Amino acid sequence: MANFDYDLFVIGGGSGGVRAGRVAASLGKKVAIAEEYRYGGTCVIRGCVPKKLFVYASHFSESFEDAGGYGWTVDAPRFDWPTLIANKDREIARLEGLYRKGLDNAGATIIDSRAELVDAHTVEIKQTGERVTAERILIAVGGFANPHAALPGHELCITSNEAFHLETLPKSILIAGGGYIAVEFANIFHGLGVETTIIYRGKEILGRFDHDMRSGLHEAMEAKGIKVLCQDVFSSIERSDDGRLSAHTSSGKVLKADQVMLALGRDPNTKGLGLEAAGVETNHKGAIVVDDYSRTNVDNIFAVGDVTDRVQLTPVAIHEAMCFVETAFKNNPTKPDHDLIATAVFSQPEIGTVGLSEDEAARSHKELEIYRAQFRPMKHTLSGRQERMIMKIVVDAKDRKVLGVHILGPEAGEMAQIVAIALKAGATKDDFDRTMAVHPTASEELVTMYRPSYRVRDGERVDP
Ligand code: NDP
Repeated sequence: MANFDYDLFVIGGGSGGVRAGRVAASLGKKVAIAEEYRYGGTCVIRGCVPKKLFVYASHFSESFEDAGGYGWTVDAPRFDWPTLIANKDREIARLEGLYRKGLDNAGATIIDSRAELVDAHTVEIKQTGERVTAERILIAVGGFANPHAALPGHELCITSNEAFHLETLPKSILIAGGGYIAVEFANIFHGLGVETTIIYRGKEILGRFDHDMRSGLHEAMEAKGIKVLCQDVFSSIERSDDGRLSAHTSSGKVLKADQVMLALGRDPNTKGLGLEAAGVETNHKGAIVVDDYSRTNVDNIFAVGDVTDRVQLTPVAIHEAMCFVETAFKNNPTKPDHDLIATAVFSQPEIGTVGLSEDEAARSHKELEIYRAQFRPMKHTLSGRQERMIMKIVVDAKDRKVLGVHILGPEAGEMAQIVAIALKAGATKDDFDRTMAVHPTASEELVTMYRPSYRVRDGERVDP
């Protein structure tokens, strides 16, 4: 058998790579991991974690407003952007340290450099030019924000990367896109007092979500003052004489703002990685093609996470990494399970969802029972806030199996996590019905909707 320097070489120190490297090393395998930027990857360094900290920051403006109805007087609160950035950076540095420590404690060799494939078993460490060999290689290099290079003036725009490090908070911002990042940042900036406009090419924001979540959130965002422009796109961006940016849209509008942010999807980070040299196949988007076990067409090379463009979510990358370790090092071939992935959009109000939307379910099931409630959460009664919560349960009429649960409102993400366990266990609507409510909560509505609001038969809505 050939002698290799390492049992496993991991390229990419994000959620998937670090998990796989740490767990494989803790099994006694000789592991090296290389990262060109900072350990923690998109999620920790410039994604989920700093984003959620910004979400918390942006919630305070509404909390101060709501406090009045409960008897509190909050005199002219002021917000200081540099304080938020500095505190956020400190927390990210702490988390990065934990990621490194975990790898170190497990005995992995940590390499602070870009690494590229030379052949199927050889990796070049770019900073030193050293070449090392490994029996198995895991590619977990993630993705990057699509710069939308076809847009004239795209170089004047920021992406989520820069949004985490702006020196000053803009007074106004235009955000292109209608996905997770566009919607979350629109709510963050608005909550921090920035005049915010979002522009989306489709009919309604958040294309892949249930239609009630999409329209409910759209209405709530507009009601609080975020401009939402649908069926339009930027055609060019220019710097005006006054230093601000002018964005021209395909419908002829000219919008002005201090910053323009592009949130138009993320692309796999595979350029220049040496995939051709190693014979690793990619698809038309540059994503690495893998089989059900995250194995590429080259037998000893695997890939997990965003670089494979399966489901671009941190917990999915971590799960794929754990399955990879089972498959590659524990003689227990394990396929990642991508069914019923719960997810949240940290907008205001938040969306939490698991399973099929009504429209998806209608395409694959003959008859559905739809349970839908729309109500003002109790907290908003004294605060006077008009925002409504929406809860929706999509049920297969044939066997009453719950196919999807969709929630718009405070803590929807937290609820989606819990309800996902029930769906994963195959819960029926009868199981929901015989579950005692927790009172008074908003989530009790999920177990007290006894009669369908309507049915969907052969794709058509009919009365219950
Ligand atoms: P998304 O795929 O969610 O959204 C991309 C948006 O850009 C869509 O609205 C898409 O429109 C639009 N778009 C794409 N290309 C163009 C174009 N050429 N012109 C105009 N519009 C265009 O990507 P994001 O960048 O928002 O996020 C990347 C990924 O990161 C997400 O898929 C998600 O998995 C993950 N993420 C998860 C979060 C969470 O879990 N809370 C938070 C942030 C990111 P259309 O809908 O018409 O295709």
